[in-house]
Amino acid sequence: MKDKNEIKNRIDELRRLIAKYDYNYYVLDSPLVEDYEYDNLYKELKILEDVNPEFDSQDSPTKRVSEQNIGGFEKFTHSPRMYSLDNTYNDNELESFHKRITNELHTGFSYSIEPKIDGAAISIIYRDSLFFRALTRGDGETGDNATENIRTIRDLPLMLKKKITGDITVRGEVFFTKKRFEKLSETYPFSNARNAASGTLKLLNPKEASVRRLSVLIHTVVTPIAETHIETLAALEELGLPVVKVLAEAKNFSELIKAKDDFEKSRFSLPYETDGIVVKVNQLEKREQIGFTNKSPKWAFAFKYAPKRAVTKLESVSFQVGRTGVITPVANLYPVEISGTIVKRATLHNFEEIDRLGLKISDTVEIEKSGEIIPKVIKVLRENRTGTEEDIKRPVHCPSCNEMLVKYEDEVAIRCINKNCPEQIELSLIHFASKGAMNIENMGPSIISRLIEKGLVKSISDIFNLKKDDLLTIDRIKSKSAENLINAIKISKRQSLSRFIYSLGIRNIGEYASMQLAEKYHNIDNFMNAEYDDLITVKNIGDESAKAIILFFSNESNVHEVRKIINSGLVFNSNKISNSLSGASFVITGTLKGFTRDEAREFIISNGGTVQNEVSKNTMYLLVGEKPGSKKAKAEKLSVKIINEDELKEMAGTK
Ligand code: NAD
Repeated sequence: MKDKNEIKNRIDELRRLIAKYDYNYYVLDSPLVEDYEYDNLYKELKILEDVNPEFDSQDSPTKRVSEQNIGGFEKFTHSPRMYSLDNTYNDNELESFHKRITNELHTGFSYSIEPKIDGAAISIIYRDSLFFRALTRGDGETGDNATENIRTIRDLPLMLKKKITGDITVRGEVFFTKKRFEKLSETYPFSNARNAASGTLKLLNPKEASVRRLSVLIHTVVTPIAETHIETLAALEELGLPVVKVLAEAKNFSELIKAKDDFEKSRFSLPYETDGIVVKVNQLEKREQIGFTNKSPKWAFAFKYAPKRAVTKLESVSFQVGRTGVITPVANLYPVEISGTIVKRATLHNFEEIDRLGLKISDTVEIEKSGEIIPKVIKVLRENRTGTEEDIKRPVHCPSCNEMLVKYEDEVAIRCINKNCPEQIELSLIHFASKGAMNIENMGPSIISRLIEKGLVKSISDIFNLKKDDLLTIDRIKSKSAENLINAIKISKRQSLSRFIYSLGIRNIGEYASMQLAEKYHNIDNFMNAEYDDLITVKNIGDESAKAIILFFSNESNVHEVRKIINSGLVFNSNKISNSLSGASFVITGTLKGFTRDEAREFIISNGGTVQNEVSKNTMYLLVGEKPGSKKAKAEKLSVKIINEDELKEMAGTK
């Protein structure tokens, strides 16, 4: 048994350590340790404080929300205050939580079980149904004004679907989808998606935040609008808000454990990262009986999944070229098993990550499979070093075309800027031909790869010179499919300007930004000649996007290539855009009369709406044509509003 002095010293040490980790995590967005380590230290402190109440202190990190306000933003008081959540990694503590709740409530309650989204907390106020203000959690009592940054989130409606007089405050989590985070890692030295989201809320320039494209899911409304939490979420969804998905309603402990175990397997398929589940008493009236601690509601509990880790050795690092020329380092590992799968490779995101880890070839490393599908290297076990480890040399030449690589000052990425780089051409062509871009039917990755391999295509514009006989020289391409492909390439020449802009694959320029650019510049020459000062006046175009456009057209070979594509006979249709469907999400099913599926998709996006592939609780409308598929039944089950083409046009104000 330790003496009291030793215990006091350990408590002080833990408080100091946790304060340091909190500062790096919440203020600098650059954690020094993994969450699991942090949570273990936190638990140790909590236990020591519980057993030794004489060392209690209101300053302890266990007594308050550790996030802090930061400079540069106006502050507002939260009403009511914002809390954190108590958490655990083990079933026994989850059972103790359940026992506490049962002792308090006895019967007549259930739990709502939701994914614990790994992002940053946000509080959003709608006033008279209009988006009014958004605040970070801050210290829980007051938050920083994040209104302008949150306004850039396209899934979040600026107006609720029903008229509500006065204020309604909702709370949720802001995050980056996994796909978006991978993309952002090319430019920024973020160590994880959660810190990237919280860092983005702190940006002083909302245009910059807009380019990064945050997402949000709402999980709370502060003034009850229904009797249960699950009904509340449904009501919030009816208001048009993107709402967290309820995984299950558990009526007893075994249902709770089942939902937790089921989600552990399925959570990787979600488009965003989760670190566990949140278990909440569903009956709102009963929550009042249970109350809050200083830091967390007592009626809710987070179960976090312990990270699946393994120790192995780094054999080598290879480098991959992306579509925009970014070189990504990938760790090649001695094969090791993590939760039933053999892992041989792990992502290293970018070169700063290699520096941050201090990684060398032949190092013993700890790898983790958590939110990401691809495992990541989280730590170097320096104590295992033998002195034979070697530094990882940054590549000087492109692994695909051998050209000199470059590094721009404002980026962490190293790039190949050779437009004739075969790997980039292949990836650029896949993007160029894809659905949202030039939409060339049947021109998928496999054909593109074979065209490049055969030397028939050396740049994008070459596809417009392809002849049927050329295609017949490729394995497995028969007369009919060659004709179809030639025809699809011809059809693609009639195109909207926005799709063409998008198809060029300029860094940061997505579908919506392309529409804004097409609307502003009307023709390709105006766009190609636009200057920085003019570009940044376009909605959704911030400093980085404007610079990316300038950089793209300052390259002679890009201009030459774009001209060659246009001169192959491209004809641009005009496309008008509006914001009339802003904040509304749609799924399309069945055969439409006046639109092809693609046209309907473009119509919705160009009017500010979003199109999803599958019906979910977050879908607001199902656009139905003839012979709808199973999506209709699912929409009915989830009370998603079903509309036809005429109603869509009416909503967009074009009928
Ligand atoms: P938390 O992130 O563990 O949990 C509370 C938050 O979960 C809430 O504020 C809420 O915004 C969010 N949340 C996500 N989905 C939710 C849902 N469906 N319903 C309700 N809430 C939901 O707590 P915290 O106070 O934000 O942060 C503490 C945690 O942060 C620690 O447990 C630790 O894992 C991590 N941390 C790590 C370090 C480090 O150095 N690695 C430092 C500080 C904190």
